[in-house]
This record gives sequence, C-alpha cells and structure tokens, in this order.
Amino acid sequence: AQQPASSGSGSDDDRDIPEGAPRAMPMEPRYRYGDPTLPVSRYRRQILYLVENHAVTIIVGETGSGKTTQLPQFVLEAGWAESGFAIAITQPRRVAAVSVAARVAEEMEVDLGTTVGYAVRFDNALQAGRTRIKYLTDGVLLREMMDDPLLTQYSVVVVDEAHERSLSTDMLLGLLKKVLRRRPDLRLVISSATLEAAQLRTFFDTATVAGRKQGSGPDRSSAILTVEGRTHPVQVHYLEAPCSDYVRAAVEAAVAIHEEEIPGDVLIFLTGQDEVTSAVRLLEEHARRQGGGGRGRGGGGPLRMMPLPLYAGLPGPQQQLVFKPAPRGFRKVVAATNVAETSLTLEGVVYVVDCCFVKQRAYNPLTGLESLLVAPLSQASAAQRAGRAGRVRAGHCFRLCTEEAFASLPKVTVPEMQRSNLVGMVLQLKALGIDNVMKFEWLAPPPAEAMVRALEELHALGVLDEDARLTKDVGLALSALPLEPPLGAALLASRGLGCAEELLTIASLMSVQHVWAPAQGATRALDEAKARFAAAEGDAVTLLNVHRAWRASGRSAAWAHRNFLQPSSLFRADEAREQLLGLLRRHGLLPGGQPPPSADRDMDPVRRAMAAGLFMNAAVFERTEYNPLAPESDPGKNVYRLVRYTAQKTAPLKLRIHPSSVLFRSTPPCVVFHTVQQADSGWFEMQGVTSVDPSWLPELAPHMYHRPQPRGVGGG
Ligand code: ADP
Ligand code: MG
Repeated sequence: AQQPASSGSGSDDDRDIPEGAPRAMPMEPRYRYGDPTLPVSRYRRQILYLVENHAVTIIVGETGSGKTTQLPQFVLEAGWAESGFAIAITQPRRVAAVSVAARVAEEMEVDLGTTVGYAVRFDNALQAGRTRIKYLTDGVLLREMMDDPLLTQYSVVVVDEAHERSLSTDMLLGLLKKVLRRRPDLRLVISSATLEAAQLRTFFDTATVAGRKQGSGPDRSSAILTVEGRTHPVQVHYLEAPCSDYVRAAVEAAVAIHEEEIPGDVLIFLTGQDEVTSAVRLLEEHARRQGGGGRGRGGGGPLRMMPLPLYAGLPGPQQQLVFKPAPRGFRKVVAATNVAETSLTLEGVVYVVDCCFVKQRAYNPLTGLESLLVAPLSQASAAQRAGRAGRVRAGHCFRLCTEEAFASLPKVTVPEMQRSNLVGMVLQLKALGIDNVMKFEWLAPPPAEAMVRALEELHALGVLDEDARLTKDVGLALSALPLEPPLGAALLASRGLGCAEELLTIASLMSVQHVWAPAQGATRALDEAKARFAAAEGDAVTLLNVHRAWRASGRSAAWAHRNFLQPSSLFRADEAREQLLGLLRRHGLLPGGQPPPSADRDMDPVRRAMAAGLFMNAAVFERTEYNPLAPESDPGKNVYRLVRYTAQKTAPLKLRIHPSSVLFRSTPPCVVFHTVQQADSGWFEMQGVTSVDPSWLPELAPHMYHRPQPRGVGGG
C-alpha cells in the first residue's frame, strides 16, 4: 500500500499510536477514540478499507451521523498520521471548525490545540509537528496551498460538507484533483449530506485515471459509501395563511410548542444574528412572564423555557452552552442561523421551527455588485432543517409558510460560485500559478460574465497586467494577505499615504465583523454608544476611534460591554492585526519593517487609502426620496448611485446608507462602501461607509474612472 511509511518513531506524539498495528483493526490506544454509538462507527472498517485502497472516498451520510467528528479519528487511529503527517478536515464555516475541534478534543481526552487543533482565519489552536487532526476552514486550506501547493504535511484531506458547495470548497476540489495526480500517497475523503456524490465521483474519476497504468498506488477510481443514518420520522406542518413577521411567528410557534408541555428541545431557524437576538429577547420576555410558577398541566411540575442564541459571531463559551443538555426541568429553545442546518448538530431537538428563508450572497454581473440578501430557502435545505428534529425520537417541523408557497420554493440551493464576486477566487488561482482560470477544471464552472468582471476588477486594482498575469508588486503582495482584495488593496495603498498604522486596524476590524454587540432591543443605547465614537469621515474612522479607546481602556472586557462592543471580536481583531503586520514584514511589504507613527488628526490619508481599495464601490448622492405618506419626522431616503459604469441599463440600483452606519443620518456627497445588504424593499444598503472626495477616484483608479466608458477587460 502507498500510505506514508509508518516506521513508528517520530515525534513524542506518535508514541500514542501502537507501532506497526495493522490498520482497521481494533487496538488498545491510549486515546479514547470517538463515539462508538454513532451511525458511522458501524462503518469504520469499510471506511478504512476504502481509504486505504482508493484515492478518493466519498461518504454520504445524514447530518448527525458522525462524519465530521469521527472520520478523522478513524484514520488517525488506523495510523494515517504517523511519520509527521497530519489529517486535514475542512469546514465551510469557521464556527463549525472551532466547535467541532473542541468536541473531538474532548472525545479523545486531549487538550484542544495539542493532538487535535483548528485553524481559521486570524485564529488557530495547534502545534506544528504535534497536531494530528486539524480542522480548518476550506479558505484556510486554500491559503496553505500558497506556501505548500501539494499539501505535503497531510496524508489525508477530508473535505467536509461538500454538499454546501461553498465557493472555497468548489475551488478546493478542483485543486485537489490536480494534487492527487502528483501525490499518489494522498487520500481524499469527501463527505456530503446529500447525493451530490454521483457528480463528485464523475468529476474525480475522469481526473485520476491517468495515474493507474503505473501500477502502483491506490485504485485511482473513487468509491462511494452511504452511511445509513438512524433518524426518526419528522412530521411537517405548514401555516394556513402566510405570516408577515416570521421572527414573531417563530417565537409564537415556539411558545405554543412549549405550552404543550411535551418535553424536547426546540430549534428555530432564522436568517441572521439580529433576528436571532431579537427572537431570544422575545423568548426571554415570555420565560420571565412564565416565571417560576406555571400553568402547566403536566404532572411533574412545568418545564421552564431556556432561550439560547446560536450564530457564527457568538463568543466561544456561549456557543458551548448551546451544546450542553438543558438542566433538569428546563427546555432549550435555540434560535439559530443557518449554522445549525448541517454544520452543527444539537442533541435533544424534537421540534424545528423554520422561517424558510436564508441569508445568502447574491451577485449581479451586470452591476458587478455582490450583496447579502434574505432569500427563500431551497426545498433541499428545508429538508435538512426538518431532519434536525428527528435525532432522538419522532419529531415535528413547523414551516412558517403555506404548503403552496413551499411548493414554489427552489428545489436546490444554487452553488455559491454561481452567485459570488469571484475577485478573491481568481486572485488566489493566479497566485497558485493557474494562469488560465477559464480552463481550470471545475466541478461546475463559474458564470463567464462573473469571471470577466473579476478579471476586470483585478486589472483595475493593479493586480493583473495587460496579459492578465499577476503583477510583481501589487498582485503578489495582495495574494499574500488573507484579506478580501479591496481591503488588502486599501492596506497596501496606506503605506504610501503614511497611514499603514491606521489601515492595519481598520482592515482587521472590518474583517472580523461583529464588533458591535447585538442590540438586544436596546437599539437606542447602541446608537448612543456608537455616537461616542462616531466620526464624520464614516465607519472606518469610527472603528479607529473604537480601537483607540479599547487600547486606552487596557483592553477591558467590562469597558467593551459598557460600550456595546464585543470583546471577543476586539481581541480577535487584535490577533488579526498582529498577523497582518507580521505578514507585511515577512513579505518585505513595510519599508523599515514598522508602520509609520500615526498621522495625528488628519484623516484624509485614511479616507484616500479606503478609496484606493474600495473604488469599485464608490457611490454619489443623487437625491432624497420623500414618501408623501410618511410622517413629518421621516427624513426620507437618500438615494445614491454607483459612480462606475455598469452594464445594467434598466432599473438602476437603489443604493442608500444602511441604518447601522454612522453616516446614516448625514448625506456625504460621495462615499465608498465595504459591503451591501439587500433589503426587502429592494434597496441596496451600504455598510462600512467612508466619505471620500470624488476627485480622488480618477487619480486612484484611472482604469476605472478616466475613460469616458470604462469597460475594458484588461487582457482577460
Ligand atoms: P455529521 O458530521 O455526520 O453531521 P457530527 O460528527 O457533526 O455528524 O456529529 C456527531 C455527534 O457529535 C452528534 O451527536 C453531535 O451532537 C455531537 N457533537 C458535535 N459537535 C459537538 C459539540 N461541539 N458539542 C457537543 N456535541 C457535539
Ligand atoms: Mg458534519
């Protein structure tokens, strides 16, 4: 067999695995391995056989069957991580990578960050040379490929949640296909909750046939194994009539379930952090009203409700709380975002309440604008969500729409690649030496217009030259930074403007997100807190003020809480900042190795740097739209318009400043923005807004703004 030689010796850690023991045989490890009660555990020997004998093994199994937590333990136990090799397992979501790593460390009774670790952007817990099972986001594994294109430190790569078809997963699968041709010793395991398996198999089979004639190595064809789950039937209920406010409807449904007094936890699916926190607040109000007493009709004293939030930005300890069983006498009611759909499994859920919406990226190649919007859920996702109710016994799923409305939902979710801005992806492929991105082998190719847009934008950023090759200066530098290209470009521009110090802070804070605490109904207080730091220049400079005050407080969590800031995000931003500074130095991108001292009060360089990165997202104020029916206090809506050329001729974008921006109540004539959300009303709402001088745009981005009709695709 062609697995990495296992001579037995090696690092301290290898001693924990008995030497020379045959694979797929029970042995007496010093670790505790896994949870034998999970469905996948019954397939352990089969899985190990396939991994040994096939380059690619595809494992299909229902959510909660133990794929994510158990697969890496199986291969570790079977000796795949000897001789210094490690096992990588990718997750589309950082919250899943962190939380599952913690769970597996607990199962194996090791400290997180030793044998079992994780790596997500700007945060990791691992020890090089010691960590054997490494959970990482698909994005981080892609970054690792920049330094080590053949992923030589891994013997097995598990691509988990392949059914999600995240942009990075799709990219990774294409790249791994290439890697497999060069590394017959590498094993790829793909795990999926649904039947994309056939498509995956075709994709890899055409890839690897070439290697077979050498007569060595594993069977180059891929294998599929279906793990039979152990789920109970879930009865689905629909609304009689559509509801207008699904957060309220979800809370009412949960309360109604709770009042039935039949035990079992409730899991509510909503679309975002804000909705989750407002649902939790409403549930808490209810729980308080319910108080200690009870109108319960059950015999053993009424159950009490324990409302809990679950979303990606939730601080670690609070996250772990969600996984703990409810204390005796309590019923957990968890309001969650999409993270609970397949990435994370909560035990004890018997009731699912599904709003049937999801927050997604959307991309319009005509406007070149990527936005987040709350979109109707696909039926496939809804089925996943419903399935979460059948873990322990027969369950119920309450969909907050009518049966007719449900029938009109899309059957499956469109892969992220089809609805994203591809700038970051193309940059990474180019940096990995894949020059002809159009010819790359895709599981499903991205839309050609989106590719053309991406090349155009990269050209404007100075990343690609006339021949669509990565430029030596900007291109190489930008691909080295784990930032979205526009923020990376702003950071690089800041060096020449004397404000690298500031931009390091801004780029870090903008990247970690969730800097402000969820308002939990205290919107006024949050606004007041924001006002204390607000800068007329906009959100970037406001973040700078926040960070200054945070440092002055001695990084006090209490201070942060008082000011409606999330200390966990602030700490993570500090981490990110350190890392970015380190990278700038390592790549020789900071002359002198030190950012110049802060440019005192003059924030123009900072605004210029923001404009240099975000010029694609420049918008000018056009007019105020008054609503004749609105009360006099209604300030109206300030309509903005994208400055650059867009190919969309009909229905120009209705842009406005998002209420969370400090510039919401002012009307700067020209701004650049970081992201946009699409509101129900059809408005595109700009977030992370900085006021800029329109005359800078042609200076900073001549490709985009000098020509009367800037539509050239540089070399693409
Ligand atoms: P799959 O990947 O097939 O969906 P998982 O391996 O994620 O399944 O889950 C297997 C089991 O591990 C589930 O019963 C789940 O409840 C449990 N589990 C996973 N993560 C955690 C965690 N962070 N805390 C507690 N239990 C967890
Ligand atoms: Mg999983």
